[in-house]
Amino acid sequence: QITPRYLSGDKPALREFLDKFDVFLFDCDGVLWSGDHLFPGTVETLELLRKNGKQVVFVTNNSTKSRADYRKKLEGLGIPSTVEEIFSSSYSASIYISRILQLPENKRKVYVIGETGIEQELQSENVQYIGGTDPAYRRDVTPEDYKKIAAGDESLLDPEVGVVLVGLDFHFNYLKMALAYHYVKRGAVFLATNIDSTLPNSGTLFPGAGSMSAPLIMMLNQEPVALGKPSQAMMDSVEGKFKFDRSRTCMVGDRVNTDIRFGLEGKLGGTLGVLTGVSSKEEFVSGDVRPHAYLDKLSDLLDSE
Ligand code: PLP
Ligand code: CA
Repeated sequence: QITPRYLSGDKPALREFLDKFDVFLFDCDGVLWSGDHLFPGTVETLELLRKNGKQVVFVTNNSTKSRADYRKKLEGLGIPSTVEEIFSSSYSASIYISRILQLPENKRKVYVIGETGIEQELQSENVQYIGGTDPAYRRDVTPEDYKKIAAGDESLLDPEVGVVLVGLDFHFNYLKMALAYHYVKRGAVFLATNIDSTLPNSGTLFPGAGSMSAPLIMMLNQEPVALGKPSQAMMDSVEGKFKFDRSRTCMVGDRVNTDIRFGLEGKLGGTLGVLTGVSSKEEFVSGDVRPHAYLDKLSDLLDSE
């Protein structure tokens, strides 16, 4: 087991740690900001890393936004970035569907539970989809629906659907759940953008994308293939783009079961936890999944100068 090193305020240890890496993969929410609140010193810390020749990549499990949405969000917060530096679970899932899954020609449609981030990334990969933010799915199930679903009526169950992709959906309901269940039962591949059970907002927790796939897992007795952190499909696509040396790459995150696991399973040279998000100091120092080092907050890296 790793004994995580506490780096805050320890200039020599900070320097030694930073010198080990050329590439930093950043989780976003809980590390750079919380919701719409940018943590003080975030912009300066990223600038410092870039000034020292470090490559910075943003890796987020948020499926509700596309990479283009994220670039705009970063810009709005004063963080310059390019779409190429951003990996969201919506993008990770879309390229998995378009480039990795080998679907028969008549089974290429995706039934989406999720928001516009997934829709935009599927569009940019030329993947056809139904569901998502279509208001036709935001309704109660009727007695007619039960009969139609039981009969496999094509007005409700599109025969070309070969994938069910589940992300966070702010209009999740019984109809969406029932359709997803029946598509998978009829042979569709079951995918999830990410498995975060919860989502921090306004100082407390709300249901995350993992809580949308949970009832389906229960109904189907089957786990989805999840494409966000800690999935190594996501690591492979980041590496595919930047061709980095894993031993000289560090994952920075606030959540042990997604971010830190992502870095450890990816055999990265380092993982750095920060205490401004979901996981606690107790989890970092004595949990099952521990980072190599941790900080009270990201901007403590500024003390390396
Ligand atoms: N999923 C959703 C819908 C979110 O809004 C967020 C954070 O904003 C996350 C997941 C977690 O994102 P990250 O991986 O950047 O912490
Ligand atoms: Ca996070």
